[in-house]
Amino acid sequence: MTELALQQYLDFAYIIAVILFVLSLKFLSSPVTARWGVLAGEIGAAMAVAVTLFNPEVVQYKWILITLIVGAGVGVPLGLVHMTAVPQRTALSHAFGALSAAMIGIAEYYVGNAPTRFEMGEIALEVIIGSLTFTGSVIAAGKLQEILPQRPIVYRGQNIVSLAVLAAALGLAVALVVNPAHALLFPMMVIVALIFGVMLVTPIGGADMPTVISLLNSYAGFSAALLGFVLNSKVLVVAGALDGSSGFILSVIMCKAMNRSFSNVMFGAFGQVQASAAAAQEERTVRSATPEESAGILAAASRVVVVPGYGMAVAQAQHKVRELYDVLTKKGVDVKFAIHPVAGRMPGHMNVLLAEADIPYDRLIEMDEINGDFPQTDVALVIGANDVTNPAARTDQSSPIFGMPILDVDKAQTVMVIKRSMNPGFAGIDNPLYYLDKTLMLFGDAKSFVTGIVHELSSNSH
Ligand code: NAP
Repeated sequence: MTELALQQYLDFAYIIAVILFVLSLKFLSSPVTARWGVLAGEIGAAMAVAVTLFNPEVVQYKWILITLIVGAGVGVPLGLVHMTAVPQRTALSHAFGALSAAMIGIAEYYVGNAPTRFEMGEIALEVIIGSLTFTGSVIAAGKLQEILPQRPIVYRGQNIVSLAVLAAALGLAVALVVNPAHALLFPMMVIVALIFGVMLVTPIGGADMPTVISLLNSYAGFSAALLGFVLNSKVLVVAGALDGSSGFILSVIMCKAMNRSFSNVMFGAFGQVQASAAAAQEERTVRSATPEESAGILAAASRVVVVPGYGMAVAQAQHKVRELYDVLTKKGVDVKFAIHPVAGRMPGHMNVLLAEADIPYDRLIEMDEINGDFPQTDVALVIGANDVTNPAARTDQSSPIFGMPILDVDKAQTVMVIKRSMNPGFAGIDNPLYYLDKTLMLFGDAKSFVTGIVHELSSNSH
């Protein structure tokens, strides 16, 4: 086969890979087709890697094979982590992706042909974004894993110092574009960008971390796209651009769902309120109920809306919740599930868990649609959700979550909340919902409590 013919085959295979990436994103946008989306993405990525190995420029496979084995050795256990650890695992994946993009850019500068000014601009930008994404993602993963302090670390004039460091990295990049042969400036630029990555994430607090992860995902994508220009790889340009733009769109959606602006997430030090607000919790009385009493109320209801949250994920209660759905439906109760866009710890967290338990998709109702139903709902059963049900977001201007769209569970006839204690949720604030006359607190682990209710309902029907 001539070299030209081989190149045409390779280009064709790359186009197929790119089509698979686009289809993957399309399929991922609905729970019904999400599995196909994952498969399409996997086949696309495997094709892009395999096709690259046939590139005539690849002269020996030894090192590629060794790194493939090492990479798989790290990647497989990372892929098997518990679902609640996915945010930090994702942060680590971005760190690795960004590190490899930065290292290839660095290699291109030192080992490749002397770059033109334009190429130097591409390399510098790509290496800066890759480096800052690497350190930023490592810090984010450390915070989410609670190896590093979760609260924002802030000091006076921080934003000015951080922006000055970023400006220094960009200044060094401009100096390199003017004179690409100025070899000393290159490592300085890399180090300054690495430092900026740390400074970018340390002032960001717990509840904002998932948004930051999504932003870092977007940076890693854009850095890969720039690398595609450096290496003249069209598939990398497209894959990086898709990754970068989808991560960016996701960050915007998350900011909207929390009623926050980008600048507020990046510079607002939101997580700081957590400790003080938690400490200020008032001593007020609440009404509680047992699994038997809860089962009686649910059995007497005609319409029930289940509101799942982070606690259901921690307790892995989704399969028991499915049993509850089955037993109530059998008794003629209409059961729906209310999905808040940021319930849990990552976008789509609740959809994934409920789909895993085979709860029919048409029973999962998005926030905007279900909110109108609450006044006609007999029981809103909140399972391990807290912030996403907090009415203070609607009424209390001094609340840190004021303005965040919430599920209006307080408008239901009766509210039942399964959680282990009166402890706050991720935002660290008290929830006035728990003190309403219509609210019953069902104290216990979500899985055990739901098991108790299912047991009662099943034994009553015999
Ligand atoms: P949440 O406000 O964090 O509350 C979860 C509740 O679950 C806690 O109050 C906890 O109370 C309870 N819980 C924990 N383990 C439990 C168990 N084993 N059994 C029963 N209950 C348990 O959760 P959310 O309502 O889902 O809200 C999500 C929060 O994350 C929001 O603040 C949101 O802004 C933030 N966030 C989410 C995303 C996202 O993409 N999903 C992104 C950014 C930020 P106890 O300790 O008393 O049991």
